[in-house]
Amino acid sequence: MKLFDVYPLFNIEITAGKGCHTYDSQGNEYLDLYGGHAVISIGHSHPYYVRKITEQAQKLVFYSNSVINSLQQQLADKLGRLSGYDDYALFLINSGAEANENALKLASFHTGKKKVIAFSKSFHGRTSAAVKVTDNPKIVAPINDTFEVAFLPLNQIERVEAEVAAGDVCAVIIEGIQGVGGIQVPDTQFLKSLREICTQNGVVLILDEVQSGYGRTGKFFAHQHAGIRPDLITVAKGMGNGFPIGGVLISPDFTPAYGMLGTTFGGNHLACTAACAVLDVMENEKLVENAATVGEYLISELKRIPQIKEVRGKGLMIGLEFDYPVKELRNKLLFEQHIFTGASGTNVIRLLPPLSLSQKEVNYFIDRLKHILT
Ligand code: PLP
Repeated sequence: MKLFDVYPLFNIEITAGKGCHTYDSQGNEYLDLYGGHAVISIGHSHPYYVRKITEQAQKLVFYSNSVINSLQQQLADKLGRLSGYDDYALFLINSGAEANENALKLASFHTGKKKVIAFSKSFHGRTSAAVKVTDNPKIVAPINDTFEVAFLPLNQIERVEAEVAAGDVCAVIIEGIQGVGGIQVPDTQFLKSLREICTQNGVVLILDEVQSGYGRTGKFFAHQHAGIRPDLITVAKGMGNGFPIGGVLISPDFTPAYGMLGTTFGGNHLACTAACAVLDVMENEKLVENAATVGEYLISELKRIPQIKEVRGKGLMIGLEFDYPVKELRNKLLFEQHIFTGASGTNVIRLLPPLSLSQKEVNYFIDRLKHILT
C-alpha cells in the first residue's frame, strides 16, 4: 500500500532528538526552531518525560472512559493551577481539530444556534470552522457545513457587532495569535471588545490556543496578555510534547450531561502521563518564563536585521516577513546551516522552537541567519 500523498516532504528523515536539537538518519545534527509545528514544548526526549511514559507504558496504556482514570484528574488539577483556570472543567481529546470541534458543539448546545464567527487567515484545524489555507483552488472553505461560518477581518470590531446583531451566532472562535495565517497578533482592545460583545449577546467566546498556548508566548495562554477570560479554551500541540492529546477548558457556566460529548481514546492513561510530565517540567524548569525572556531577546535581535521587513509575535511564537518568497532562504537554513524553521504562506518564516531554547542557541541562529542574508 502506498501513502496518500498530501504532504510536501523534505528529503530528510529525523530519527532522534535531544533538547532543541534533532538528528537525521545520516547522523547530522539540526537546531530545531520549529518543533514540528509548535508541538515540542519541553524539548525532545526530555529524560523525565521519557521515564514517566516508559513507566506508565509498562503498567497500562489504555482503558476506556467507562471506569475511573485518576490520571485525568491529576492532569486537570495541574493544568488548572498552572494556567490560572482552576475553576474551569477539562474535556480531553486527541488533537487540536477535535478540541475545536468539541468547543463548537458545546457552544451550539449551549445557545441552540449554529452560526460561528471566525477570522480571515485563521486556522482551526480540519474542522467545521476550517478556512482555505492553501493556494490550491481545489481546496475550498468551509470544508463542512455543520456550522455556518462567517469569516470577518481581524481587529474590525464593528464587523463583529454587525454580524452578532442578527441574533443567530453561537460562537466567536479566535486564535490567541494566528499561527498558520502568518503570526498575526490580535489587538488587545479588539480582544477586550470581543469579550464584551460576546457577554452582552449571549455568544460563546472560544479562544483557540492550540498553537499559541502552553507557555509559547511567555504567558500560559496568549489571550492572558490581554487580560480576558474566554468561555472555552482549546489546547493540543505542546500539551503532550509529541504525544497526541488535546483538551477543552470549559467555564463553570456550562453544565455537563452524560453523553453530551465523548471519545474512545481521549484522556487515555499514556496521554495523561505525557501531559502531566510536560506540566511538571514546564513548572520545574520555568519554561513559560524562559519563553518570555529568550523570546524577547530573539525578537529584539531579529528586529536589528535590516533585510527582514517585519518581525511579529510574542515569546517564542515569531514570524519574520520578507519582501520576497522565503522558500530558498528556508532551504539554505535547513540544508546549509542545519536549522529547521517553518513558513506561513509564501513570505513569512515561522519560528516555534521548544520553550527551553537558550540564549546561546539564539545567538547561533542569528549569526547563521545574518551570514545567509549578507
Ligand atoms: N488550531 C490551530 C490554531 C492550529 O494551528 C492547528 C494546527 O496547526 C489546529 C487547530 C489543528 O490541530 P491538529 O492538527 O492537532 O488537529
